[in-house]
Amino acid sequence: METEITKTIKCKLIGLTKRKLELLNREYDNFQHYLKTGEDRGVYSATKQQGKRTYRKIDPDKEYPLVIRKDLMDIRKTDNKLAKYWARIPVYGVRGGVKVALAHQPFSFEEWEICGSKLVRKNGEFFLHVTVKKKVEVKKEYLSIIAIDMGARWVAVSVARHRSKPKFYGKRIREVRGKYFWLRGKLGREKKLRAIKKIGNKERRIVNDELHKIAKDIIDEAEKHNAIIAIGNLNGVRNSNKGKKVNRKINSMPFYRLKEYIKYKALERGILVIEVPEFNTSKQCSKCGSMNTERPSQGLFICKDCGYQINADVNGAKNILKRARGYMLGAGAAVTQPEGERHWHTPQPPMLPVEAP
Ligand SMILES: [Zn+2]
Repeated sequence: METEITKTIKCKLIGLTKRKLELLNREYDNFQHYLKTGEDRGVYSATKQQGKRTYRKIDPDKEYPLVIRKDLMDIRKTDNKLAKYWARIPVYGVRGGVKVALAHQPFSFEEWEICGSKLVRKNGEFFLHVTVKKKVEVKKEYLSIIAIDMGARWVAVSVARHRSKPKFYGKRIREVRGKYFWLRGKLGREKKLRAIKKIGNKERRIVNDELHKIAKDIIDEAEKHNAIIAIGNLNGVRNSNKGKKVNRKINSMPFYRLKEYIKYKALERGILVIEVPEFNTSKQCSKCGSMNTERPSQGLFICKDCGYQINADVNGAKNILKRARGYMLGAGAAVTQPEGERHWHTPQPPMLPVEAP
């Protein structure tokens, strides 16, 4: 099964000479002027057209990135010492455009198709945002399943068919969030607003780094054990009866971002991620299926029917694993093979909308 992934690479333009900087600023300013007034003081014609097409409603107080037409974006690998990749930005009145160096990226443009680019100006510096795509082949058969339960306490808890011990992720994130929560409170009382914003950015960066590490660990394991990844789908449950504001809050939670990272990175490596309805996964006993259960404390799960006692998040992950198995059997797995060697077929997986995180 083939699918397409896209992502946006953000590259800072480096080593700009005074002349180049002037040209880019002129083009950028003229573009803003054109969008807001319709008057053309000199903007590359294709960029003008793209701008009109992209930005329908213009806010006079906003700045809009230059939209560079797909076929005009020329990114090349060079042996130049300053940068591995150079790009040409089409600029009005300059034949061949302005040649700019892109700050180092752990990324190979040659393997991707360029779909579109935007030149963004921020605090006097320029960044090129390049959207790229490529086709990936997603594996159809798997030997194991990794099931992930996401939540607030542990960002993720995973169980897998190929190991008996659960894995807990997110200790560091909890520590970081706790620390910054405390700091923000303290700075708030001292009314240090700029400092609050600054540490907010720092916190986001650290949490994001952690989330990427967690996603990588899960996907490395999936690759090693040829496992499909199953994640609980909270959205279906929550979106239905809660307002937009709540959704926005959920979407900004670390586990939501983690899910996006996992989906994306897995697909990039040809591993499928299936989403399993998470309805009742926290209430149902993963051993006997009973709903006659209790949680005497947040972390503990007890089944009143079979007496099963387990960490509540692990119970959730086990339910997701069960449901994923059920789904895969339903999708046509060969059930005659011994449990340990069963291949999991996925003829019609519920495909995910994949966007670059
Ligand atoms: Zn039970």
